[in-house]
Amino acid sequence: MGPQRAGLLQLELGIFTFGDLIQHYPFRYLDRTQIYKIGELHEDLPMVQIKGTLKRKQLIGEGRKQRLSAVLVDDTGEIELVWFKGVKWLDKTLKNFTEYLAFGKPTLFNSSLNMAHPEMEDTAELKHESSFLQPVYHTSEKMKVQRLDSKVLSRIMQVLVNMAKPHIQETLPQNLIDQYKLMSKQEALVNIHFPENADKLQAARFRLKFEELFYVQLKLMRQKVVRKADLKGQIFKNTGALTEFYKNHMVFDLTNAQKRVLKEIHKDLISGKQMNRLLQGDVGSGKTIVAFLSMLMATDNGAQACLMAPTEILAEQHYTGLKEYADKLGINLGKLTGSTKKSERNVIHEQLQNGQMQMIVGTHALLEDVVQFQNLGLCIVDEQHRFGVAQRSKLWQKNPRIIPHVLVMTATPIPRTLAMTLYGDLDVSVIDELPAGRKEIVTVHRFDSKRLRVFGFMREQIKLGRQVYVVYPLIEGSETMDYKDLTDGYESITRAFPEYQVSIVHGKMKPADKDFEMQRFVRNETQIMVATTVIEVGVNVPNASVMVIESAERFGLSQLHQLRGRVGRGAEQSYCILMTDYKLGKDTKIRIETMVRTNNGFEIADIDLKLRGPGDLMGTQQSGVLDLLISDLSKDAKILQEARFAAQELLDEDPTLEKPENENIRLHIRSLSKNTVNWSRIS
Ligand code: ADP
Ligand code: MG
Repeated sequence: MGPQRAGLLQLELGIFTFGDLIQHYPFRYLDRTQIYKIGELHEDLPMVQIKGTLKRKQLIGEGRKQRLSAVLVDDTGEIELVWFKGVKWLDKTLKNFTEYLAFGKPTLFNSSLNMAHPEMEDTAELKHESSFLQPVYHTSEKMKVQRLDSKVLSRIMQVLVNMAKPHIQETLPQNLIDQYKLMSKQEALVNIHFPENADKLQAARFRLKFEELFYVQLKLMRQKVVRKADLKGQIFKNTGALTEFYKNHMVFDLTNAQKRVLKEIHKDLISGKQMNRLLQGDVGSGKTIVAFLSMLMATDNGAQACLMAPTEILAEQHYTGLKEYADKLGINLGKLTGSTKKSERNVIHEQLQNGQMQMIVGTHALLEDVVQFQNLGLCIVDEQHRFGVAQRSKLWQKNPRIIPHVLVMTATPIPRTLAMTLYGDLDVSVIDELPAGRKEIVTVHRFDSKRLRVFGFMREQIKLGRQVYVVYPLIEGSETMDYKDLTDGYESITRAFPEYQVSIVHGKMKPADKDFEMQRFVRNETQIMVATTVIEVGVNVPNASVMVIESAERFGLSQLHQLRGRVGRGAEQSYCILMTDYKLGKDTKIRIETMVRTNNGFEIADIDLKLRGPGDLMGTQQSGVLDLLISDLSKDAKILQEARFAAQELLDEDPTLEKPENENIRLHIRSLSKNTVNWSRIS
């Protein structure tokens, strides 16, 4: 390959070596194994092959608009073939009354089928067997312009694969290959590019995906083994206060899921190892009480506990909730945020340092270096997605003697397949059950033209004593227009509801003003809250029973679900109304239909994953994590499970990978270790 093409490959695809290039797998294959009869063609078929005799070839039109037309005939019918480019040359080379293999996509044009720009091969001079799967490679516009398209790439690949074949090393141990009936690495690499047949392609894919996921899992599990062996944790054996609270002060029974999760946490806290656990629970599943009871396990044993929230509003809300519980046991619970007054702050700092304050709720303010604890034993982080990795690592330093236990809570349900991969070195607990007696939120879709009716419904609900959220999208880059939508919306609502009070909250407001407005709504002094997604996370107003989402087509599925979770927190029937324009894209329709159909956060997260791909779901900062070459987490859950099981079994038998039969693994890990970012360590 010349320097120009090599440069293009580097620049456009990040391909620097033969190894990189051979791992540039086709993303699909054109099926040239089958020859269709012209009579069985229809417009829903992809590119297909047909064989027949060329007839009635003719040039039509003049100059640049000139096209070449012909028909191909077999014993079942005929179809028009047409070309708009390279017309003169094609006219010279294609011959009437000759048999050709044509490869193209049947499309409907003027109510009959034709094929535009089919590839033509004279059957008398076929260069290859007619039956094969033709690889299609990702390329870029720039590459195409420089004539480095998929076909050229495939010719280069042919040379490379032939050349590399004798040098391809096996990267998995033989016993795994036998046990899972895997294709050899060599055969897999050949067949992924140039499949002998569909079965071999299938086997090659399975092998390469298995290998990829196996090594991801192995890496995570080894980190976990290392971490568990290294990091000691305080042991919290006493459960006196916990029992007392449970017996005398609980106003509801815990759900089975809550009980199970608490057991899992307790087991960690008496294990002598540091806990590093992710707690997933859909909105309203009751994570707060689990947090509090876990904090009790720490304070029961002379340690302190903190709960960190991403925003001031949330910290306030957690404080209010936990204070009620803590007071019952006479526990000293504090609150520390950016707006805590200097004088109060000094007292808190002192009490944390001398151990008088046992529990504290706060924001990032807790991370400041001046905040020192006497003995921080447990740190709970709410809504981990808003915390940066660096901030989380600061937590570790808050107890110089022994690293605090960490529990991260999130309401964004991560599909299991993804959680397994991303947090393979973390322990994951799930609250997969809502408290009994909750009414399902009724979700409906309404077009913008029905807004007056929606207003009517809002009025009915407010008359019943309820409150209403109206949420507008706020998308980075189109903020000016979005604010206009928001303020226009606010005005039309104040006009439509002169008899009621309306709050407005958005990100451009000063925190104090925002807080003031939120509090008015919380106290039911305002009946309608017009807001951007700042209310997305955690806000709890049980009396609010209607959530209207404007321009719902502009929200992601998980975000819609989060927003909906702001209602349905009280005993009343709650509603979510998704407002959209008439014109909806295919994905938008799926999002809206999914919302209307189900309240299940995990189901929604799975569909979201399929629609958006995992990188997007986790936010850009983590997308590098999922640099998977061939596996697709939204589709390969089963392979992931098998690979995970295999990795676990292997590590159980050979934790340090010393055994001679695992030499392949040692070698391969060494070659993989270029990428050393430890993204899985979340705290
Ligand atoms: P989230 O998981 O979204 O943080 P919360 O902890 O705010 O949920 O709980 C939502 C509501 O459900 C709160 O009002 C809480 O008191 C209530 N709750 C939590 N657990 C139970 C339960 N087991 N039974 C009844 N109500 C519960
Ligand atoms: Mg919460």
